[in-house]
Amino acid sequence: MQKEVLADLAKGQQPYATVLGCSDSRVPPELLFDAGFGELFVVRVAGNVLGASIRGTLQYAGVHLHTPLFVILGHEGCGAVEAAIAEQFHGARHRSRISALLALIRPALEHLDPSLPAAELLHAAVEANVRSMVRQAIETPEAHARMKEGVFQLVGAVYDINTGAVRFLD
Ligand SMILES: [Zn+2]
Repeated sequence: MQKEVLADLAKGQQPYATVLGCSDSRVPPELLFDAGFGELFVVRVAGNVLGASIRGTLQYAGVHLHTPLFVILGHEGCGAVEAAIAEQFHGARHRSRISALLALIRPALEHLDPSLPAAELLHAAVEANVRSMVRQAIETPEAHARMKEGVFQLVGAVYDINTGAVRFLD
């Protein structure tokens, strides 16, 4: 990286988007969106869930960095969502801290049809999980206020690990 860019970034950051994505090694937001240093404020956690510390990080991004775009990025074939499905529908049991993480995904699975073929169920669950996190994020007072001002966009997206395409949800 050029010295001037480094020097500029050392003075402060002004990322154009905040991304909440999954920890999966195949889904690095900076590479997917072809972004450089200082361009994305990224939070990664298995299953792209909104736990307490994540909410704090996102509140920081909204209140102090004022990123105009917030993307919640799920991905096809997500192992965390798959594990939540196994717990919800197939009686699987996971270790306690993993289970606590999966508990944040499980509400998104409630309206899914467990009789779907496994691949279809996972595909639907990944999208339902992103939509669930988007809904939760919209419900925060900061998001409400900033969307009212018209200076903020909150979108859900699903990355396809097979094609490399990002599908933005309505
Ligand atoms: Zn994942």
